[in-house]
Amino acid sequence: MKRTLGYTTNPIRRHSSERDPEALARHRDDPKRLVVLVAGDIPILRAGEPVTALLSPADTDRVANGLEEVFLGHLGDRPVVARLAPSDAADLFREDPAFIVMDLRSAAMNRIAPHDELGILATAKSLLDWHARHRFCSTCGSPTTLSQAGFRRDCASCGAQHFPRTDPVVIMLVSRGERCLLGRQTHFLPGMYSCLAGFLEPGETIEAAVRRETFEEAGVRVGAVRYSASQPWPFPSSLMIGCMGEAESEDVTVDREELEDARWFSREDVRLMLRREHPEGFFVPPSVAIANYLLHEWLDGSE
Ligand SMILES: [Zn+2]
Repeated sequence: MKRTLGYTTNPIRRHSSERDPEALARHRDDPKRLVVLVAGDIPILRAGEPVTALLSPADTDRVANGLEEVFLGHLGDRPVVARLAPSDAADLFREDPAFIVMDLRSAAMNRIAPHDELGILATAKSLLDWHARHRFCSTCGSPTTLSQAGFRRDCASCGAQHFPRTDPVVIMLVSRGERCLLGRQTHFLPGMYSCLAGFLEPGETIEAAVRRETFEEAGVRVGAVRYSASQPWPFPSSLMIGCMGEAESEDVTVDREELEDARWFSREDVRLMLRREHPEGFFVPPSVAIANYLLHEWLDGSE
């Protein structure tokens, strides 16, 4: 099961010692280099068998005004860089059948982007998004410049160093005996239910966040919490921390600000929802999402 979880596989060998000040300039002239091109927040994929996010330098020639580049690491002996282009650069590829222009969420959900490259795309998208939104120092307000081959931004004015952020989110399958608790947000597709989730707050443990979010959103008390698996979620830079939680109470009180509904589902319900055969039309997220993985783990313990 774990192999189908999206954004978790990344064949690039990364090493912080390779992020010296000359790294980007050195790889810029390397004819073997591979480029992950992101226009705004849209990755440009090369069509074909197989589809790939790893473009050749010639593929990207038509983009004259790239904004920023970061060095992701090596694939074999080939350096891989991620390049940020303005969002309208996507139009340069849209009509060309050699390329696929599609937001990453859709490309992953519809299995258009290669599974093995989803981790590369997650790294590229999160890192480039961070650069695009952190051009000024949060300490003194002066412009910052890229350093560490893209894994840091420095402020020349006050000396502050800024590092790319990863925002931890707890996502939990809370169960009690033969039933588990699922909820739906208003923006979900009609009929879709998923695990409850929420951002970890500063100074909070993972276990405490699982208990707090479950009580806030559904009014259910959680006792034992166990970590299961994690998943990068590059929208823009979350890390989903998947947990199993044991409920200590059953009454559900839905916080309507957070959720449209939350309710208990039986194992049989969940089996039917996974197969999209539930008589009431309920279903759960696809296998690319960690909620699906947690539900499988709860049903049969298999991975
Ligand atoms: Zn500063």
